[in-house]
Amino acid sequence: MRPIASAGIVAVGTELLTPHRIDTNSLYLTAQLNEIGIDVRSKCVVGDGVADLESAIRHLLDQVDVVLLTGGLGPTADDLTREAAAAVLGRTMHEDAALVDQLRQRFAARGFAMPEINRRQAQVPEHAIVLPNAHGSAPGLWLDHDERVVVLLPGPPRELQPMFEASVRGRLAARAGARVLRRRVIKIAGQPESRVDEVAAPIYEPLLRQTPSIETTILASPGQVELHVSARGTKTDELDAALEQAVQALARALGASVFSTDGRAIERVVGERLRERGLRIALAESCTGGMIAARLTDTPGSSAYLTGGVVAYSNEVKHRQLGVAPETLNALGAVSEAVASAMAEGVRERLRADIGLAVTGIAGPDGGTPEKPVGTVCFAVAGPGTYRETVTRRVPGDRDVIRQWSVMVALDLVRRALR
Ligand code: ATP
Repeated sequence: MRPIASAGIVAVGTELLTPHRIDTNSLYLTAQLNEIGIDVRSKCVVGDGVADLESAIRHLLDQVDVVLLTGGLGPTADDLTREAAAAVLGRTMHEDAALVDQLRQRFAARGFAMPEINRRQAQVPEHAIVLPNAHGSAPGLWLDHDERVVVLLPGPPRELQPMFEASVRGRLAARAGARVLRRRVIKIAGQPESRVDEVAAPIYEPLLRQTPSIETTILASPGQVELHVSARGTKTDELDAALEQAVQALARALGASVFSTDGRAIERVVGERLRERGLRIALAESCTGGMIAARLTDTPGSSAYLTGGVVAYSNEVKHRQLGVAPETLNALGAVSEAVASAMAEGVRERLRADIGLAVTGIAGPDGGTPEKPVGTVCFAVAGPGTYRETVTRRVPGDRDVIRQWSVMVALDLVRRALR
């Protein structure tokens, strides 16, 4: 049989054609397929119309080895992915009695009788392999068609991802040929993209011409730059060794601003350092409004090192809750290193932590002055022990960018304090 080398993805759902929902399933699927050496050649978003769906499937079947569809497997009349796929492949549908039973049991376990419309989800095209759904009612379907494959997956990411991993990835990998793609990600804080490229290009350019050839791409987001290095080939060990060498050379050249080479996010790196050293942090956030707390608490188990935080937006809260002197606020203004520093000291003491981290800035669009334009942000770290650091940074961009960027700078200051 011919190996499966190329894929097409169809994200199904009229809601994905509105400005309110975006298709993220195809990003997840692309990353997964690339890892097992399958290239995504085409993807599209199609509404719930059966004719549109059929034409998308037909078109992709002419172009690629596997077509993956996500969504439209629900019980309602507008969920037509099953019907469209069966029509294109010329299969009749039948009700799978075992599936009806499973659906009934699923509802019974929650104390409900199964609504009759859910029987639709037990409709299976002939010769299909049913893919169990551990997290929802819609089963997936695997359909072989000559040497090609059509795979139907549920829309909700929390159903699709475990189903792909449990039932699809292995089946595709077994038919994907021996070529794989391996990738590493280097994450860098607080450097402009152009600066990172200036340092990294002399290292990564020759790597493209070596064997195995290593490709590098740069991705920037507020306060963070990522270098993605990847290599394709048949020998995983050899690819991983070549990538490790490349990562080491790049990380050495980029120095202390590299905070991870294994994909970890900054809040994870900071959390792990705090945990290793048995230290606890408290946050005093003004312009970031709790975003740093949200990031740190993204990691399960963060209560081991985060005591809490105060969103100190008004001067009154800066004074009353954190003990910032009104004279300092009046004389220097809320956005000043002296205020940031007093906020950090105050929160460290009042929330009984080893480290206080404070951010106060002008996120805009209003509130800027010639001396302190929009984008001026002051940061302070108090602790551990006698360690003290205060900095002021200016960042271009709109409110959203300024706030996201401030979160990165703040967390990076703590990372550096813990080196
Ligand atoms: P269900 O049984 O839950 O109805 P389904 O397979 O019919 O499953 P849809 O109804 O198409 O799935 O989508 C359900 C939800 O899943 C959507 O409202 C959306 O939140 C999410 N979703 C669907 N498709 C995508 C996608 N391509 N990317 C991200 N989220 C998606």
